[in-house]
This record gives sequence, C-alpha cells and structure tokens, in this order.
Amino acid sequence: MGGRLKGFEANPGLEWRARLFLDPVARLRYLRRATGTASRRPWVRMRCRPLRAGTVPLLLALAWIPCVVSDASTHGYPRVFRLLSSAPPPNVWQVEETQGYAIFSNGLRLENRFTVRNRPRGESAGIVFHTTESFQLPLEPGRNRALKLIGEALLEYVRQKRAYHFVIDRFGRVYRVVAETDAANHAGHSVWASGRRAYINLNESFFGVAFEAQSQTPEGGPVINPAQVYAGRMLTEMLRSRYRIPEENCVTHAQVSVNPGNMRAGYHMDWARAFPFREFGLPDNYWRPLPSVRLFGFLCDASFRQRAGAPLGEGIALAEGILHDTALTEGFSVPAYRQVLQKRYREMTTALRNGSASKEIWNEANGESSDTGDRP
Ligand SMILES: [Zn+2]
Repeated sequence: MGGRLKGFEANPGLEWRARLFLDPVARLRYLRRATGTASRRPWVRMRCRPLRAGTVPLLLALAWIPCVVSDASTHGYPRVFRLLSSAPPPNVWQVEETQGYAIFSNGLRLENRFTVRNRPRGESAGIVFHTTESFQLPLEPGRNRALKLIGEALLEYVRQKRAYHFVIDRFGRVYRVVAETDAANHAGHSVWASGRRAYINLNESFFGVAFEAQSQTPEGGPVINPAQVYAGRMLTEMLRSRYRIPEENCVTHAQVSVNPGNMRAGYHMDWARAFPFREFGLPDNYWRPLPSVRLFGFLCDASFRQRAGAPLGEGIALAEGILHDTALTEGFSVPAYRQVLQKRYREMTTALRNGSASKEIWNEANGESSDTGDRP
C-alpha cells in the first residue's frame, strides 16, 4: 500500500512495523489502530530504562513469585506496551450452591459432579482458553446417547489428568473439574504479559477453560456451537468478576504456548484462530504483540504462521516489529538482541526450577496439558 495515513508521517518506526503486514487491508487496519484513528483500545508505548549493548538484563531478582515475573520496567524491558483503559469485570455473584451444582446471577450453572482437588495455586491472574481436540460426533438429535457417553468419558479423562479447571461440553453444560483454588495442568510451557507484568508457565496463575471441540473443523465452520459460546461467556464473566481478571489476560493456548527446546512459539496451537473474543465480551486479544516473541525472543515458524488466523498473525508481526525496533535503537543486531532475550528467558526458568518453583518442576515431571492441539 503506497499511500500514507495522515498523522504518522513523522513516525518511521510505526511505518516500519506497518510494512510487516503484507496484506494491505491488515496494514491499513494496523495503522489506523496505531494512530488512534479507528481504535477504541489505543496502545501506548512506554519508554523504560534503556538496554545497553553488552549488558545482559539480570531479571532474577528479589522477591520471586512463582510464575510471575514481576515488574517489567524495573528489569530492563526496553519497551512495554500498555493498554490505557480496561473494561471492568462484570458484577456476577453466586446465588446458590449445593453439592452437585452452583448457580450464579448471570445464569451460569456449574456442575460439580467431576470436581477434583489438585495442588494449591497462587494468584488468579487470567484465563487460557483451550479446545479438547477430542473425538467429535455430529450434534444431531438421534445421537444423544453417544454424545453424552463421549462427553462423560472426556470429563473422566480430564479429571484424572487434572487437565483443566472447566470443561464446556457439546450441550453447553459447564463442568468445574479442577477446584478453583488449585492448579490445573493445562498450559505447559507458556508465556504471557500484560501491563507491567509477565507470567511464565501459566498453570500456577491462569484458569484453564476447555471447550469440547476441535480447533480445525473439516468444513471450516465455527469451532464451538452457540450453546458453548453462551456458556463460555457466562463462565468468563463469573471468573472475571470473582477474581478481578483484566480482559487482556483472557487469551488462547496458541497465544501463550512455547517450546523452550527449540525456542519456538506456538507449540500447542488450539485456538490459533477464530476464538470469538467479541462474543465473550472481550477485546480481540489476538492483536496484542505476542509476549513470547517481544520479551523473550521466541521464533515463530512457518507452520505456526500458517495455522494462525489473521489477527494472531498480526500480533506476531507486531511483536517482531517491536523486537526489531528495539534492537536497532539499543545498538544490537536483531540476532544478537534475540540472543539476549532468549538468555533472559532461560535464566528465569532456571530460577523457577531451582528456587521457589518446586511446583514448576512438578509440572514438567507430570507432562503438559492433555489437549492435542499441538505438534505431532
Ligand atoms: Zn490447549
């Protein structure tokens, strides 16, 4: 796209990042968002302490909270994107609870039949959305018995593996599996960041919500049905209200999953596209610059880019643009700067393993999440 949008001619960095979008429509959308001409959710770049060539940012600091990597600006993150305003969580409260179920003021009903305890968890910072990638039959009246049997077998499996906090079945029923006070084994190696905080290995700080579904539908239709969308929205509202979860911390597994073995993002790829953020009352968080790339120099290979939908692809491109910009500004080559960021990640995960993070070692010893929306 050859034309320029009024208002950003004096910002070569912005134009550079805009060139990352090969699709002219996506590029225009990005420029409009970035210049605030069409966005209700403006990003603002914050300038933090500069990073000098030859100095490795030592982030292994002070009071360490498992999974939470603390204040980005005080640990040398060169630039941090921050959302100016965040919609407050809706007000939802519990109306009634019995041994078998709980009812909430927004109509949510939680089934407790499969609830199980696991190890205690720390804070409740966010939600990671998954698909179970389990066997699916067509949702047809004559298949009620088989659909219910398949759903119950899945729930039993999830219960045994302590794989998710919540499962939403094909009929939109919401099952509370792992107790809300405990950690579930849903996110594996994972990274997210928002505001001035970054999170590593989200099992200890994010809820896992799984839909009985497969991310890739043969006919390219919706991944989840209207009953699941409705139930997912009610559940999201309840969790955001009860735990004061910010909207920017409601993300999909594909956005957070990483493989430290080869330093690639997108190890698990469930919900790499088409998560209905809007229908859940959330902003389209696919647009956010991917934290694993931006903060820790993870790479995105061709299969992840291909699997990602357009918004997540733009989130990846935006993160790469920031990384590129920052490297040049701070006097690094891009590969050298990526090495610095990757070293930062390795130091943090080593500290998690060796220090206060015995829980993380437990995670690794017991495998990752049970969904198979990942690499073969
Ligand atoms: Zn998953």
